[in-house]
Amino acid sequence: MNAMSKPSFGAYTVVDHTYDAVVVGAGGAGLRATLGLGAAGLRTACVTKVFPTRSHTVAAQGGVSASLANLGDDNWRWHMYDTVKGSDWLGDQDAIEYMCRQAVPAVYELEHYGVPFSRTEEGKIFQRPFGGHMTEFGKGPPARRACAAADRTGHAILHALYQQSLRHNVEFFVEYFALDLIMDEAGVCRGVIAWNLEDGVIHRFRAQMVILATGGYGRAFLSCTSAHTCTGDGTAMVLRAGLPCQDMEFVQFHPTGIFPAGCLITEGARGEGGYLTNSEGERFMERYAPSAKDLASRDVVSRSMTIEINAGRGCGPDKNYILLHLEHLGAELLHERLPGISETAHIFAGVDVTKEPIPVLPTVHYNMGGVPTNIHGEVLRPTKDDPDAVVPGLMAVGEAACVSVHGANRLGCNSLLDIVVFGRAAALRCAEILKPDAKQSPLPAGAGEAALDNFDATRNAKGGTPVAALRLEMQSTMQAHAAVFRNSQSLSEGVAKMGDVWKKQADIALSDHSVIWNSDLMEALELQNLMQNAMTTIVGAEARHESRGAQAHDDYPERDDANWMKHTLAWCGGDGQVRLEYRPVKMRTLTDEVSVIPPQKRVY
Ligand SMILES: Cc1cc2nc3c(=O)[nH]c(=O)nc-3n(C[C@H](O)[C@H](O)[C@H](O)COP(=O)(O)OP(=O)(O)OC[C@H]3O[C@@H](n4cnc5c(N)ncnc54)[C@H](O)[C@@H]3O)c2cc1C
Repeated sequence: MNAMSKPSFGAYTVVDHTYDAVVVGAGGAGLRATLGLGAAGLRTACVTKVFPTRSHTVAAQGGVSASLANLGDDNWRWHMYDTVKGSDWLGDQDAIEYMCRQAVPAVYELEHYGVPFSRTEEGKIFQRPFGGHMTEFGKGPPARRACAAADRTGHAILHALYQQSLRHNVEFFVEYFALDLIMDEAGVCRGVIAWNLEDGVIHRFRAQMVILATGGYGRAFLSCTSAHTCTGDGTAMVLRAGLPCQDMEFVQFHPTGIFPAGCLITEGARGEGGYLTNSEGERFMERYAPSAKDLASRDVVSRSMTIEINAGRGCGPDKNYILLHLEHLGAELLHERLPGISETAHIFAGVDVTKEPIPVLPTVHYNMGGVPTNIHGEVLRPTKDDPDAVVPGLMAVGEAACVSVHGANRLGCNSLLDIVVFGRAAALRCAEILKPDAKQSPLPAGAGEAALDNFDATRNAKGGTPVAALRLEMQSTMQAHAAVFRNSQSLSEGVAKMGDVWKKQADIALSDHSVIWNSDLMEALELQNLMQNAMTTIVGAEARHESRGAQAHDDYPERDDANWMKHTLAWCGGDGQVRLEYRPVKMRTLTDEVSVIPPQKRVY
């Protein structure tokens, strides 16, 4: 540890540290960045609210995409085409080119780091089909592109990255909750302030670069596949710093959350041959996506399931779920390729997958939106003169970021790819622009004071509304009003309701007022963060008068490229008021080895 001084803000002990770089988050994105920074000889701290290998990345099942062509023809250009199409032409094509090309070396790098991928007969990395990944620029059969370690790919990757990062001289601050960024008057990010959950001490980390890798905010919704820790802390810190987030309205629903618990059954289950039926036993996806069928991309399958349920063809006594069949695949294959989800289905649905189908329902799964960045992970603060202006000292990677490679809808297996490719890119950029041990000017006077004031006020809140009750109200509002299908009336009601929910934060009540392992306080701070994410999501959705990717708007059922092929930028004030602006989508490639993919109608 590197304690420098101990200023005291009122009753709190504050410990100061100085590093070249501070990474907030130890999921796949944070660890890949941390490991690269360590390897580059930069003095690095990684601050994380949960133990690294408990980050949500551990739950990823299906795989990581790369056109290795181990089990059939493939090409990074096809991968790029599928990703642009999957994004419904909202993704930036230069960034998508970068990611899809880097995918192949990135997966081999993971292999060399020790990720125990499943193997083909010849000993190559095993690859399975996944939704929306096709061959021949969408015209050929499904590609086998998802590199998998059974159905525990995220677990395998996260452990390998953690072990590799320990080879370098990096320091982990585990179970430290980052509260806010420290910005100076010139708008430069100078560090981050955090709370040590174990002993209640406040820490200020001064650094040349802060890299946010805090993951998504699935918990803004009632039913989601994400861990309880996915509360959008990093995106909220950026909003509180007066910076915008991008494309927050695009929230992915995964077709197969277990009914009603919400736990995920990987798309890999359909990749291995699983299929969906309605109450009439019909394989209805054949009607909606005649060629890709059950392997159409996620937004398409989720909408088709919702239409079936709304038409009265849902299963069960209340006709409110769909069935996913795996029983025809045989016990041997299920045991070898899908052991994890077989267990999850048994525990959460009481189903033996070798004998009976699993009840499933579309469930919130992924946030396409986040902190806008360039392909080096540098955070953008677009101005009229310079749409690509960056915030000095600040980067974002992983699900917290919006590069944007996923646009309006992410393809399965492209997130594990995103986190390793851009975690690495951020570290490379730091190695280029930071000098190890460079002298840093002192933090601004009172740095972090506002964050600590909020911390103190929240800790001592003695209103009438328990944190859990308000969180439930927010989650129910978002689930009902920013759902798979949206319409103007429901969205504007949702915006008004969220405004009321926001105001109720003033009446929050905490039962525990200590600073040591105070989970009540941590959840209250997480709720503040979720609120910012939820507000920008629903306001952005209400404003977007078109249907594109995950935004399916009943009153505007078509994609409207003339008016809406643009990224949303959303700012959120302390009063919950959201301001929106827009920036153009990058319809350009990085190199001339591929051409721009012009917008087309998106059919599967
Ligand atoms: C069930 C499930 C299955 C999935 N399967 C796949 C798949 O097969 N393929 C695929 O490509 N994608 C998959 N995804 C998506 C993918 O796993 C995630 O998008 C990705 O792992 C996110 O990684 P991350 O590093 O950005 O964030 P996370 O892994 O969520 O890590 C966030 C980190 O930030 C830290 N943190 C957050 N807030 C704070 C704070 N305030 N202070 C300190 N630390 C903080 C946490 O401690 C944690 O270490 C799946 C997602 C889920 C939920």
